[in-house]
Amino acid sequence: MSTSCGMVHIILGGTFDPVHLGHLRMAQEMLNRFPEAQVSLMPAAYPPHRPTPGATTEQRIEMLDLILRASPSFHLDSRELEREEASYSVVTLRNIRLEIGDNPLIFLMGTDAFAKLDSWYHWQELLELSNILVVGRPSSELPQQGPVAELYQAHKVSKPEDLAHYSCGRIGFCEMPQLDISSTYIREQIKSGFSPRFLLPDVILDYIQQHGLYGYQTHSPKGN
Ligand code: ATP
Ligand code: MG
Repeated sequence: MSTSCGMVHIILGGTFDPVHLGHLRMAQEMLNRFPEAQVSLMPAAYPPHRPTPGATTEQRIEMLDLILRASPSFHLDSRELEREEASYSVVTLRNIRLEIGDNPLIFLMGTDAFAKLDSWYHWQELLELSNILVVGRPSSELPQQGPVAELYQAHKVSKPEDLAHYSCGRIGFCEMPQLDISSTYIREQIKSGFSPRFLLPDVILDYIQQHGLYGYQTHSPKGN
């Protein structure tokens, strides 16, 4: 655990199937709190044995590219898609660490993901490589007991901005207006013939319509 004051790298990993305003608001919140940071969206590969919920890898990247075109302050880190198989976060973080030296690294996740951290491959090593910043998400909370709760208590900082002073090893919690939006809900809405408008950027909805993703039928969505 070393202290550091160099360029802060913030990573939001996810499947982004599709990217929505919950993801983007989190990323924007990071730019607001860490104006000098590099904030990257890092799409994950789907495990080969799992059927993909919707978009192909190329389509997920194209949707993220549309976001970056409109919001050039965000970056895209596509390293996990360049590998043959799904990557473990700890392996990806090792890789990033090699590139950024001792600079602060912040791995961003919602409370739903953080609560299940102890199911991740080599999860105890994550903090040796990165800080973790947990963002409140509706329907899930910071764990109150168990190994992840103990990890949080042992490594927490008093405010998220403190993470910029550590290259790794600390956990922050960030309160922001919670958005009860998930990619699953958006996919289900579309499948049911309802419009997901206002849950995701219009440019992404246009892309979904054009490519007929998630069972989108051009004539069907009600309310668009
Ligand atoms: P799915 O429903 O397919 O699982 P998702 O909406 O959960 O999609 P992911 O790509 O799985 O999106 O999420 C990536 C990361 O972003 C996770 O750490 C998740 O907790 C976080 N996240 C996603 N949506 C929100 C949200 N609305 N509020 C806070 N965190 C979020
Ligand atoms: Mg999810």
